[in-house]
Amino acid sequence: MTSDNPLIDRPAIVWFRNDLRVTDNAALLAASEHKHVLPVFVLESGVNARAIGGARKWWLHHSLERLSEKLADLGAPLLLMSGDPSKLIVDLVETAGASAVYWNRRYDPAVQAHDAGLKHSLRSHNTVVESFAGQLLHEPTRVRTGSDTFYKVYSPFWRAIEGDIEDRAPASAPDHLTPLPNAPRSEKLSDWGLLPTKPDWAGGLRETWKPGEDGAHERLDAFVSEKVCGYASMRDVPGVESTSRLSPYLANGEITPAQIIHALNASDVDASPKDRTVFRKEVGWREFSYHLLVNQPELPHQNHNSKFDDFPWKDDAAALTAWKQGMTGYPIVDAGMRELWRTGWMHNRVRMVAASFLTKHLMIDWREGESWFWDTLVDADPASNAASWQWVAGSGADAAPYFRVFNPIIQGEKFDPDGDYVRLYVPELANMPSKFIHKPWTAPGDVLAKAGVHLGETYPMPIVDHQQARNRALAAYDKIKDAA
Ligand code: FAD
Repeated sequence: MTSDNPLIDRPAIVWFRNDLRVTDNAALLAASEHKHVLPVFVLESGVNARAIGGARKWWLHHSLERLSEKLADLGAPLLLMSGDPSKLIVDLVETAGASAVYWNRRYDPAVQAHDAGLKHSLRSHNTVVESFAGQLLHEPTRVRTGSDTFYKVYSPFWRAIEGDIEDRAPASAPDHLTPLPNAPRSEKLSDWGLLPTKPDWAGGLRETWKPGEDGAHERLDAFVSEKVCGYASMRDVPGVESTSRLSPYLANGEITPAQIIHALNASDVDASPKDRTVFRKEVGWREFSYHLLVNQPELPHQNHNSKFDDFPWKDDAAALTAWKQGMTGYPIVDAGMRELWRTGWMHNRVRMVAASFLTKHLMIDWREGESWFWDTLVDADPASNAASWQWVAGSGADAAPYFRVFNPIIQGEKFDPDGDYVRLYVPELANMPSKFIHKPWTAPGDVLAKAGVHLGETYPMPIVDHQQARNRALAAYDKIKDAA
């Protein structure tokens, strides 16, 4: 079959990046109009971007397996290549005789610059290139304040974009893709070494997650048909699975925020308007994080508030290791850090407490924490991770004030009153009575003995005293806060 359009009579390349899905994928739909389609994923090198961490590599491997299956079912198998995409894609256009390349936009400034360069180069060779929105609900460069700058405070930002977010019905997958005859030979996913082997630390990830588009929609269905009821109050309770856990699927583009908002609006479950609004606003924090990153490309490594450039961060390798290993002696912090290590994810409330503990109690630079999270989170995201770390540290836009130091004991008692979360991730405290579970060092000797807890042996004593650490942090902050 031929058409009257020479563009679509020739093959199209669709370049998958962090959009590993076949539904609501504008680039794939545009490619499907062509007579032949060549889907490709490039394991990138030579792009001036931060390499993904270990947990996201694990996810990527499985996500690519699922995407390959889906594309093969549609008719056009996924081509895997590794190297510099600005060379590989240009060569591929030549080999395939393609008339067009389609992709969905990504917003990390480092990769955006690369993609803009490639677009320019392809167009100069008379190849049609089109990029599409999808990763976000808004275009982060287009939103400006009245004084034509970017938003640095969340609430007015959200007010500015909320009304413009259309509830569009997400696009379905194309019905069918016709593959390129004689498509180039694909590299083998198993040769890419994305899975950990020696040691294989991914057992907990395998138990917890089902990467891929189907896994994303299972999570979404479970959330909008049930868990969203009570979200506004329960979202802070780490011992109950009450949030959507969609973040890794969003980070890998296995689902779009538009699909999430549409499903939420379409759901007739008996959730209160407040539950729905609070959830939408959380999705809004992701949008805000990208708004900040796009307008401040240095966000992942430079203080938004330059006063923090003079903050006397401590170089304390032993304390950093204790924090990473969940051995600080503060049960809520340790439970969070161990949840992260075991599952590649941590509850938002506990992320805030653990991040506050690192930056305030231990006075360790937020960039150390950001890079540990980058390596260990399955949802590691250049915008949300950096913006959230700076928010907690006090150096960020619309940040929590530095003097608000989370008390890890009170946070534990308030949000994990029966210690369910701590018991799950810190099993050596499983038999502690609830009264002492967030401060085991205050328990009488007979209570500790009965619970089988030997402080300093089976579970550490606190590595810093809360009150002293708080005072030390505040004194350090006092020295920088009045700086010009
Ligand atoms: P839900 O409560 O179900 O929320 C739905 C979606 O809204 C999330 O999937 C996420 O995309 C978005 N969202 C919710 N809260 C936030 C928030 N505070 N900031 C930005 N987006 C939000 N989130 C990441 O996706 N990647 C990260 O690398 C990341 N690093 C973080 C580091 C720190 C120190 C802190 C305090 C938070 C970080 N977050 C990060 C934000 C938040 O913790 C996670 O998005 C959330 O826990 C994901 O769980 P969920 O999908 O069940 O969220």
